[in-house]
Amino acid sequence: MTHTHTTDRRPRHDHRVVAARLRLGAARPDGRPVGERDREVHFLALPDGTPTQLQLTTLCGQHLNREAVELIDTITGMPCALCLAHIPGPPAQRA
Ligand SMILES: [Zn+2]
Repeated sequence: MTHTHTTDRRPRHDHRVVAARLRLGAARPDGRPVGERDREVHFLALPDGTPTQLQLTTLCGQHLNREAVELIDTITGMPCALCLAHIPGPPAQRA
């Protein structure tokens, strides 16, 4: 099947960084249910041009099931400090 893929020549990234948040009530990796306190916004580096994997690894090293997280466009809530420290390159200029 034909898969059209725009070759977007980015300066240095072949990954895009997306924000992800655990769904409320989903199972955490340690088995406990996700509560409001767990709803930190993590960041993931996804390879460009491939579908989202079922098993996601956050920049801070957590392994999350795709179905347990929601990918979000805007950061709503507390971003994960560990993830922020691992973002490759500044995502935007600081305000
Ligand atoms: Zn994180």
